[in-house]
Amino acid sequence: MSKLTCKKCILDSDIPGITINEESGLCQFCESYKPMSPDEKKEYLEIIGKMLEEKSGKGEYDVIFALSGGKDSSYGLYKLKKEYPFLNILAIQFDNAFISEAAVANAKKMCEIVGCDFFKLTMKEEALCDTFRKAAGSTNAYSKFARYRASDICNTCISIIKQKLIEQAIIHKAPFIVFAFTSGQAPNPIIDLKPSFIKWSRDLFEKQLQNIGVEDKDESFLLKSEIIKSIDKDATPVILHPMCLWDYNEDKIVEKLIDLGWMPPKINDSNSTNCLLNAFACQNHINKYDIHPYAFDIAGLVRSGDMTREEGLEKLHKELSEPLIEMAAKKLEMDPE
Ligand SMILES: [Zn+2]
Repeated sequence: MSKLTCKKCILDSDIPGITINEESGLCQFCESYKPMSPDEKKEYLEIIGKMLEEKSGKGEYDVIFALSGGKDSSYGLYKLKKEYPFLNILAIQFDNAFISEAAVANAKKMCEIVGCDFFKLTMKEEALCDTFRKAAGSTNAYSKFARYRASDICNTCISIIKQKLIEQAIIHKAPFIVFAFTSGQAPNPIIDLKPSFIKWSRDLFEKQLQNIGVEDKDESFLLKSEIIKSIDKDATPVILHPMCLWDYNEDKIVEKLIDLGWMPPKINDSNSTNCLLNAFACQNHINKYDIHPYAFDIAGLVRSGDMTREEGLEKLHKELSEPLIEMAAKKLEMDPE
């Protein structure tokens, strides 16, 4: 059968698991897609506003913010502080040994502009490289669903970030953790973390690390068991994804950021604005599963109208940067894929 591409988003019948209905011309996701209405978004924002007001001002920080220095999180931090100026925010940038200098400079700059504390979370480079190498060499370490959301390397990295950010929130008694995921990446704007869920997610990631061949005995990547034990059951942190409720337009966001003094990255393969491992991670994932790890994210943005179909298709088919792939492979001591 010849390749069919969904009329609404950018997914096509060549992607494993995607079926296009020949009559409607839509993929299974677009067929069942129900967008959040403006009223629903408003309601969510009201709830979030109330929560932030009620729970802020009690701990050392109100918000632990995941800041990569890329456009989405940089804008998210700016917008969060603009909407809720009373928040005391600790922005954390995870140094995965592959973040670009520009990303670090941008993250620091955004914290200065916004007026919040900055913390660079670092780990042993050797341990990180070993873990990413093992993730690249593994197959099926993560769920089938996760494979559509991100590459095996990215899933490993983002899991470490989630574990360590929850850990930081518990340590600093911060009631909120904010991620700048867009609507395509995070369908749920509010996630209340119950202690049982925190424990479950830690144990799940431990299994996934074992699947790729990593025994994290000293809990460098995992949420430390001791810290889980110290959780105040009545004050577990809440994860917020406000970006999926705000209007999103990539060009406008970048324009605003440049206005503020944020520098657009020079090395650019469109998907990689801050992580130099990204191109290698994408190529590795495509070779293993025949799935572009950004396809679903881009499809989500196109489906919700936050990105045009043309832009989405262009992004999806843009070639990955060879020099970036080679550079990452060299650092990981692997063959470029
Ligand atoms: Zn579709």
